[in-house]
Amino acid sequence: MSSEQLVLGGVRTAATDGATFAVIEPATGKPFSEVAQAGAEDAERAVQLAHRAFEEGRWPRLSATERGRVLLRTAILVRERLEDLAIMEARNAGKPIRDARGEIGLVANVFEYWGGAANKIFGETIPVQDAGLEVTLREPIGVCALITPWNFPLVIASWKIAPALACGNTVVVKPAQLTPLSVLALADILMEAGLPPDVLSVLPGPGATVGNALATHPLISKVSFTGSTEVGTQIMRLCANNITRVSLELGGKAANVVFADADLERCIESSVFSVFGNTGQDCCARSRILVQRSIYEEFSARFNRRTEALVVGQPLDEASEIGPLISSAQRQRSLDYVALGRAEGAKIVSGGNASTEGGYFMQPTVLMDVDNQMRVAREEIFGPVVCIIPFESEEEAVRLANDTPYGLAGSIWTQNLGRALRMAKGIRAGVLSVNSSHSVHTEAPFGGYKQSGIGREMGMHAAQLYTEVKSVFFSQE
Ligand code: NAP
Ligand code: MG
Repeated sequence: MSSEQLVLGGVRTAATDGATFAVIEPATGKPFSEVAQAGAEDAERAVQLAHRAFEEGRWPRLSATERGRVLLRTAILVRERLEDLAIMEARNAGKPIRDARGEIGLVANVFEYWGGAANKIFGETIPVQDAGLEVTLREPIGVCALITPWNFPLVIASWKIAPALACGNTVVVKPAQLTPLSVLALADILMEAGLPPDVLSVLPGPGATVGNALATHPLISKVSFTGSTEVGTQIMRLCANNITRVSLELGGKAANVVFADADLERCIESSVFSVFGNTGQDCCARSRILVQRSIYEEFSARFNRRTEALVVGQPLDEASEIGPLISSAQRQRSLDYVALGRAEGAKIVSGGNASTEGGYFMQPTVLMDVDNQMRVAREEIFGPVVCIIPFESEEEAVRLANDTPYGLAGSIWTQNLGRALRMAKGIRAGVLSVNSSHSVHTEAPFGGYKQSGIGREMGMHAAQLYTEVKSVFFSQE
């Protein structure tokens, strides 16, 4: 069993109180790594180091081009170690290795993007009425606390770390306790790529202590959080005390709208993975499939057949398409929703049970005859469970797609261009795809409407999350 220290100001070290915890492999339910468990004292030390690095250190004062080079070197190192990082992520998060390779490739792309973007973040000159020159400067905010979840551990951490560093901030990362390993490995890579020490700390530890200490600390200028809407709400409240800047990526209940004229072959192949990929533990999961009534039976039968052919298996098996859930609790939560769906009157046509082999496996589950008012259609399940809901008209499809407290992602399947455009304008969500299930593009904004969050990560939009705008007027008198 490996043993991992935390990262304090770029240096690997034990927790102040010497505490450790076991990281479990979801495919076996057994511990496979022992990790230093940060506490409130480690959070305090990390914030003090990052604050000093911001006030006096080199990083915010380097040219943006120099900062970019560190991120470009990071991208190269991540690509060189892609296979090792992918195996680590696959084991720790229970992902099929093929998916894990794709995710680590995306991490490299994100660092490459921000390496190139660092010196393209700039202000404006504005023609004001007074005699002189008005310019704006884009400056780093300060110490950023980055709190991340377990579903895409390194991908989501990189979406925050790369732009925060590109903009010249210093950072304290709080990974989910279930999946700290890849973020710790990335910290080593960043140091090797030339990031000055003290700019980055990584604190694996409980959200309720470490996360809370960061969100309430007066020297933290910005919190970027991805996780549940419940914890996001608490964090927003905590940030109110010091007017700490906050951006949030929260839950979702994305609609996948399928019209009778869709290319069903492509749609079904894509839709199955859009909800069961990552075992449904995806804030963009297309967990409500809205199907036009005239093809409801045909679509459902074909979707079911494809679901039953999915290969649920060991993460390191090349043939696996679906891995286990992250934890016993997360699997139980999905099973409870299946029981609730049955009680609410939905029909279970595929799956519905835990797999009996070791680890937290569960059969991909399809619920039919679901009404959008049922709790299974309204609440984020975050597991391999999909609801198939019929609709009659385009107007009804928009109404149902929007009848949710969430607004993160969605898909529209139709060959009618005008209808695709009307639907894309009508659905209130931050990330839509037409005849596709892709939500994530390194170069494009990503984030939610309504209770799915605040702010846009990815693309140049993310620079707004990690900079302040300063307005400076030079009088010519
Ligand atoms: P969570 O509690 O929201 O965890 C997300 C992150 O926040 C973790 O790093 C967690 O740390 C930390 N955290 C927890 N309580 C905190 C607090 N009081 N202050 C500061 N940080 C805190 O999510 P979860 O419990 O793992 O999952 C529950 C549900 O959240 C899922 O079923 C799903 O619906 C949703 N979820 C959504 C996403 C997404 O991508 N939008 C991701 C994950 C989960 P620790 O876990 O280490 O304590
Ligand atoms: Mg939690």
